[in-house]
Amino acid sequence: RSFIAERLQQVKPSATISIADKAKQLKADGKDIIDLSGGDPHFPTPQHIVQAAFEAINRGETHYSPSRGTPNLLRAIQKKFASENGLEYSLEEIIVTPGGKHAIYATLVATVNDGDEVLLLSPAWVSYEPSVYLAGGRPVYIPLEPEDYRITPEILRSVEAPRAKVLIFNTPNNPTGRVATKEEIEAVAEFAIERDLLVISDELYEKILFDGHEHISIATLPGMRERTVTINGVSKSYAMTGWRLGYLAAPRQIASQVLKVHQHSVTAAATFTQEAAACALEGPQDVVEYMVKEYEKNRALVVEALNAIPGIECKAPEGAFYAFPKVDGDSIKFADAMLEKAGVALTPGIAFGPTGEGHVRISFATDYNLLEKAFDRMKRAVVGR
Ligand code: PLP
Repeated sequence: RSFIAERLQQVKPSATISIADKAKQLKADGKDIIDLSGGDPHFPTPQHIVQAAFEAINRGETHYSPSRGTPNLLRAIQKKFASENGLEYSLEEIIVTPGGKHAIYATLVATVNDGDEVLLLSPAWVSYEPSVYLAGGRPVYIPLEPEDYRITPEILRSVEAPRAKVLIFNTPNNPTGRVATKEEIEAVAEFAIERDLLVISDELYEKILFDGHEHISIATLPGMRERTVTINGVSKSYAMTGWRLGYLAAPRQIASQVLKVHQHSVTAAATFTQEAAACALEGPQDVVEYMVKEYEKNRALVVEALNAIPGIECKAPEGAFYAFPKVDGDSIKFADAMLEKAGVALTPGIAFGPTGEGHVRISFATDYNLLEKAFDRMKRAVVGR
């Protein structure tokens, strides 16, 4: 008898884990490993946000918060959606979760029936596929062309998925660094309406944009508000990954069902963390501008240094903090070789779905000098000196 649920058999240990394990082992053996495989900003959480958490704890805000979120944070999120995204939500349409990841998971659990298909645009963030399986759904990839990972109506319409119910859309994109254009977002919206799909719009990287690229929330497009769950959080924008604070906005009938999942699984996000997040959203935004400028400097280094390595081709990412260069051959072998020969941990592209192969993901949310050192070592490993 197996005590393990069948749906877990679909969830395979990912290529990212095996590389990360190897990197940990090498580090434990005393090797100097530069880890560019994660998605965690190297900046400390801004001081005024940290201070807000301490103050909340000292005020005694260490008990359960309302499941949906603290009134203070819910109002801050409501204002943020209205002023930054052009989205009007009532407080009953917003839920605060421990991380954007849980917001996605709770939405899938609340909306997917056993065997329903969930469409993922490949390359896609590593956690979508397992979350779909855990919710009892079946992930179906829509492979975007590695040439430019552009979304077109033709590519969307080519997918055969008669039981498709949900589509997960992510812009700015992890891992490709693409920021979807208005035309691409319109194509996704039209397709969602045509196939009567719910769209889970993952907008975690919305503030990390380069070269004048603009973020558009798909829920603002005609006919989309009623079929979109917008996901966001403070992890990436405010260097707050460890605080575990995300949120979602959805039409009332959907939000009330997601709230059930949330209420009976995690109860609520941590109370004082929510006060810190309210401070992040309502406080000075120059901290975000500063971090984005630093990412921009790192990006310039990453693109130049990678293109100087024979066999690697790297386009400038438009948003988020990942480069997704094309490499020679098998992505797992390439990442393995870089780990062993250069002591640099990267994420193999195959971890992101079928059209991620032939690429690796490199996080540049890290110290500039460390990045320089990493690329120097990679170049030497590739040219064999
Ligand atoms: N969505 C994307 C595309 C991500 O890259 C991440 C984190 O890596 C998340 C969602 C979840 O972030 P968190 O749960 O920290 O809010």
